[in-house]
Parts: sequence; C-alpha cells; structure tokens
Amino acid sequence: MPKNIRVAPRKFTVYTEKNLEKVPQLSRFSADQVLAMRAVAQVLPFRVNDYVIDELIDWDRVPDDPMFQLTFPQPGMLADGELDKMIDLLRKDAGKDDIKTEARRIQLGLNPHPAGQKSMNVPKLEGTEVAGMQHKYRETVLFFPSSGQTCHSYCTYCFRWPQFVGLDDMKFAAQEADRMVDYLKQHKEVNSVLFTGGDPMVMKTRVLRRYLEPLLADELNHIVSIRIGTKAMAYWPQRFVSDDDSDDLMRLYDEVHSAGRNLAIMAHYSHPVELSTPTGQAAMERVRQTGAVIRCQAPLIRHVNDDAEVWASMWKRQITLGAIPYYMFVERDTGPRQYFEVPLGRAYDIFSTAYRRVSGLARTVRGPSMSATPGKVLVDGVTEVQGQKVYALKFIQGRNPEWVNRIFFAKYDEHARWLDDLQPAFEDKWFWQDELEAMKQKGWSADWSDASHIDKRVSEFGHVQFA
Ligand code: SF4
Repeated sequence: MPKNIRVAPRKFTVYTEKNLEKVPQLSRFSADQVLAMRAVAQVLPFRVNDYVIDELIDWDRVPDDPMFQLTFPQPGMLADGELDKMIDLLRKDAGKDDIKTEARRIQLGLNPHPAGQKSMNVPKLEGTEVAGMQHKYRETVLFFPSSGQTCHSYCTYCFRWPQFVGLDDMKFAAQEADRMVDYLKQHKEVNSVLFTGGDPMVMKTRVLRRYLEPLLADELNHIVSIRIGTKAMAYWPQRFVSDDDSDDLMRLYDEVHSAGRNLAIMAHYSHPVELSTPTGQAAMERVRQTGAVIRCQAPLIRHVNDDAEVWASMWKRQITLGAIPYYMFVERDTGPRQYFEVPLGRAYDIFSTAYRRVSGLARTVRGPSMSATPGKVLVDGVTEVQGQKVYALKFIQGRNPEWVNRIFFAKYDEHARWLDDLQPAFEDKWFWQDELEAMKQKGWSADWSDASHIDKRVSEFGHVQFA
C-alpha cells in the first residue's frame, strides 16, 4: 500500500566561493583557515546548500567530519606552493584577472581531461557529432542534458570538476532530445540510456520530461533501461518530496516505469549519514513507490569513506531502505586526487572487508572499479600466480565488448592508484593495448555494426506495459 509521504518544503539556499564566509558555522574557524578555503575555492569548484550544512555535517567533528571533507574546500587539495601563492594573491587583494590566471595555471596541471572522453566517445549521426552524447560501450549511451550540468552541492573530489570551473565548456551538452532519439533509432545495439551531468535532477520536471518522454516511443523498444545518475537523493532529497514540482516528478517516473522501461535512479551516496535523515529516507520511499529502482554507487575517497565499516554500514542501510548497492569506484585520475586517492591494494582490502560483513543481498555491489580509457576495470583480487604477487583485474565494461569479463593480471604495486600505474604481470603489454591504440588513431571505439542479433532478441521480447 503506497504511503502518503509529506515533508515540509525547504527553501534552497546555496553558498559558493563568492559568499563562503557567510556560512554561519564557519565562525568556528580562524580567519586564516577561512582564507585557505577561499584560496582552494578559486581553483576547484565549491557549492554547498543549507540542507547539507544543517543536516549532514556534524560541526562538532570538523574538519574531520566526512561530509565537511566531501563538500568544503580543504587546504590539502592544493600543493603547498600553489596554496600559498593563491593565499598571497587573496591577501594582497590582487585583481580578478591575476587570480583567474593563476587558478587556470593550476587547473591545467590537474589532468582535466582523463580517459579520452572527448576524443573517443562522441558519436556521429550523418557525419556530424551528436551533441551531448557519449557512446563508449556498445549497449549504453550517456546523455548530458544542457540544463542538468550543475549539482545541488559540489563534491570536493568531483571528476567532472573542469566543467564547473569553465574549463570544459558544456556547449557540447544537448538542448533537446531529437538527435539522441534519431541516433538511437539507428542503433539497436544500445539498450540503456544514462542521463548524467552534473546532476540531471537539478532540472525542473517539465524540462526532464522533454528528454524522457521521447524515449518511451514504440520504435525505441530496444531501450530496456533509462538511468539517471544523481546525487540529489543525498544532497537535496527535497527534490523528490517537497519541491513544488516533486509530485509531477513522481508522475513522470511512474509513466516511464508504466511504459515498460526499467527506470534506475543511480544514486550517488558517499556516506551512511546521507541515508539517515527523515527527508532522505522519505525521498527513497517515494521514488521506489513509482516503480523506479534505486542503485547506489560512490567512489572510495580518503577522508570521506576510506573505512570498511563505513561501506558495510552504508550497504546495509541501502538494503534496509529498499535500494541496491551497485558500485564502489576508484577515485579518478584527475583534479585534487593526491588528497583523496586510496591506493588500489588498500581499496581492495576495504572493499573485501566490507563485503564480508554484509549478507548476500548487499553483495550485488561491485568494486573497486576504475572507469579507465579501455573500459571499466575491476580489481578482482590480490593473489599469487607462479610465485608472483599480482592484481587480478577484470573488465566489467570494455570498448570492445569481447573484452568484457576477461581476467588479466598486473604486477602488484602497493603504491599504484590507477590502471596507468600498473604493469602487465606476464606479458610485455596488455592484451588490449594494440587494439586500444588503433581505436585512439581512429578516434572511435569499435565497429558495432555486427549487433543485429541484439536487435532481434529485444524485439522478440518486447516490452511489458503496465496499465
Ligand atoms: S554530484 Fe557528481 S557531478 Fe556533482 S559534484 Fe558530486 S561527483 Fe561531481
């Protein structure tokens, strides 16, 4: 029986680098500490709303509080010399241009464009690029709606940070769904569309509807699932329960589900505290009542959640609240990663320890997983083969579908933090290396035109319609 969930509306108040000092709780910090935060916020994005400030951060635990680390600029995010220089510029009230120039210089040193996202993933339709889309894996396309390119708060470790500081102009994001729909009509090998950002859930419902509704057409029945990647469930659950168009949003979700698509809310939860508030829990309940599924994912981040107990507790809470633990990611090779990263060996230990502490229901989770240039690579084990300590790695997604589920081995290196830091254990190159190089030359992943069997299977199966 659906419950009638009511939560009092809350006004959305947001702080950015321009008014950071106005956050009332920062009065407990010294002027120098606040200045250091401002210095970091000149370089890396900062945005936090009052729900996070009032209900998720435990101000008696700052600066160690995980949600504070997750949302407020931390001095360690910049290298010492760079932090000092930026503080100096602010102290002497340097002009905007000088600060911007220095910030740009630092930003460009932070690997703003990892994993060939722009060079290899943008598909073409009749010879021109489809704005706002990426097609890296055969079955899935990513779609970036232009009005969903901010977030209710920004994560300090965000791998999409360049777009929030104007380094990646988001002109490539899509205004309308038409081109995506035309592309999908011609690409029956795709069965899943993932809306991503930023956060698509910053969009008003009427705008989101313009993107979702066209995907429900019969000629797109090969689209089995529509996913929405979002952190709004954690950062602004009011979006689902009390914002003025939240009822419309639930109707829209219900329509997508009723049209026979699997609607998956890919909820980014970094810490169990995000699942603990009455509003956060009400949002989950309400979303689930529409028939949508909530799948939970987050990167493993030092200072935020680098503790097996945190993950075990988070997965258990997700199960209790009817959600599905899905991914633990490795912090990507961009931005202030030196402050947040966890080496692969330790990441594997944390994952395995947490995994052992939960029941089979929570073991739907996969990780630690790297979204790297050739594909999604799982650190599946640390073991010994032929007397050599190695990482057992596995593709759970690959630019070439034939790579998926293949195991390969890398020399164990306790300092390695990413696939690029690893060396093959028994060969002089990775089994996929030559093929990946050829794809880079072509600027495209693979020829998927032999996917007619997928089309046939999906059309035979058809879609369940819920009256
Ligand atoms: S919610 Fe996602 S896109 Fe937004 S700041 Fe956090 S990690 Fe980045």
